[in-house]
Amino acid sequence: MSERSEKSQVMSELPYPYEAQASQALFDRAAAVTPGGVNSPVRAFRAVGGTPRFMVSGTGPYLTDADGREYVDLVCSWGPMILGHAHPEVVAAVQEAVTRGTSFGTPGEGEVALAEEMVARVEPLEQVRLVSSGTEATMSAIRLARGFTQRAKVIKFAGCYHGHVDALLAAAGSGLATFALPDTPGVTGAQAGDTIVLPYNDLDAVHAAFAAHPGEIACVITEASPGNMGVVPPLPGFNQGLKDACASNGALYISDEVMTGFRTSRAGWYGVDGVRPDLMTFGKVMGGGFPAAAFGGRADVMAHLAPAGPVYQAGTLSGNPVATAAGLAQLRLLDDAAYAKVDAVSARIQSLVTEALTKEGVAHTLQNASNMFSVFFTDRPVRTYEDAKAQESFRYTAFFHSLLANGVHLPPSSFEAWFVSTAHDDRAIQRIADALPAAARAAAEATA
Ligand SMILES: *Cc1c(COP(=O)(O)O)cnc(C)c1O
Repeated sequence: MSERSEKSQVMSELPYPYEAQASQALFDRAAAVTPGGVNSPVRAFRAVGGTPRFMVSGTGPYLTDADGREYVDLVCSWGPMILGHAHPEVVAAVQEAVTRGTSFGTPGEGEVALAEEMVARVEPLEQVRLVSSGTEATMSAIRLARGFTQRAKVIKFAGCYHGHVDALLAAAGSGLATFALPDTPGVTGAQAGDTIVLPYNDLDAVHAAFAAHPGEIACVITEASPGNMGVVPPLPGFNQGLKDACASNGALYISDEVMTGFRTSRAGWYGVDGVRPDLMTFGKVMGGGFPAAAFGGRADVMAHLAPAGPVYQAGTLSGNPVATAAGLAQLRLLDDAAYAKVDAVSARIQSLVTEALTKEGVAHTLQNASNMFSVFFTDRPVRTYEDAKAQESFRYTAFFHSLLANGVHLPPSSFEAWFVSTAHDDRAIQRIADALPAAARAAAEATA
C-alpha cells in the first residue's frame, strides 16, 4: 500500500468530518519533496491519524491554517511561544535587527547581551556558549563532559529526549514513542555503546550503574523536569540524588532545560528545585521563535571549550543577530508578572480539562511541572516511561480530533506536554471550555 492511500484510509475512518482541503493539498506537495511531508516527525500526525494542519499565520493564542480556520494553540511551537504568536515587541526587535543585516560571521553585541541576560537569571550558569538548536546544545554538552572528565560513558533516562544526538537516541520519548521504534537505524553500536539507559525516577538504578562502572561515567544527563514522555516531574529528591551521585563519583550532572528553561520560572526548573547542575542546556523559549539555543554552566568546565580550551565546538550561525534579538526581546518581557500570568492560564485550563473528563467518567491523570502539563488517559500516577506507555492512547486520539475539529490545537501525540502563553486570554480559554465537553465525550466513547 502506498503511503498516500494508507493515510487516506486513516482519515476516512475518523468519526469527525472536517475540512482540511488546503492542508491536504499542501501535505501532498510536501510528501513529494520531503520524507513523510514534514521537517520534524511528530508534525505528521502519525500518532493520531489525519492531515496535519499547515499553518499560515499566528497571532497571540491563535493559529490560522491554510483553509482559513482559526485554532486556540496549546502547542506554542512546542514551547518557544510563551508570549503568544507575533508578540509586537518581539516582532519589532526582529525587524530592527534584520534591517542591520542577518549574519556577520563575527562576534556582535546581541549575543553578548543575550548571554548576560541568561547568566543573570540562572545562577549556576557562569559561562554560556550559544548554538542554533537544542540538539546541538546537548550534543556539545556531552562532548564537553567527556572531554573534561576524560571518560566515555553517559547515563540517560528512558523517556527523556535530548534532541536527535546519536548517543542519546535510546529510549528517547515522544518522537520515538510515537513510532514505537526501540532505537533508530543509522546509530551504530559504537555511537550508542557508551550510553546507559536507566528507568526515570529510580535512584537505586543510578547508584548501581555508578557501582558497575567505576571511573567510567562522564555525566548523567536528564531533562530538568521531563516533558517528552508527557509531563513526568522528578520525584522529590531525585534531581538532588543525581547531583550527589555525580559529585561523589567524579561525573558531571547535566540538566537539560531546553524545554523547561525560562518557561517553568524566570530561572527555569533550576528556579523551581534549586539543584545546581554542572552543565545546563537551553533552547525553545530563549530563541523567541528563532533557532537559538545554548549550553553552559561551571566556568572551570566551560574553560575547556575551544578557543579557550581543547574541546572543539563551533557554528556558522551561532549567536545569529536576528535570533539573539528575538530571544533577548522575549526574555526581557518575561518578568514575574508574565510567569504569574502563564501559571494562572495553565491552572485554569488544567481544571477545565479535568472537570470535563471527570464529568464523562474518563479515567485520567493530569500532571504538571509549573505551567507545563499533560493529560494521561490512565487513573495511575505516571512516574516512568513505562507508566506513560501504559495509558489508553486511543482515547487521546478521539479527544485530540474532537478538539481540533472545534478549533483547539493540541500536540498530536499523547506523549507530549501542552504549552500555554501570556496571550491566552478569557476569550481563548472560553473557546477551549466550549470545545471540551464534546472532546471528553469522544474520549469516553473511544474504543481501542
Ligand atoms: C526540544 C528538546 C531538545 C531538542 O531541541 P531541538 O531544538 O529540537 O533540537 C532537547 N532537549 C529537550 C528536553 C527538548 O525538549
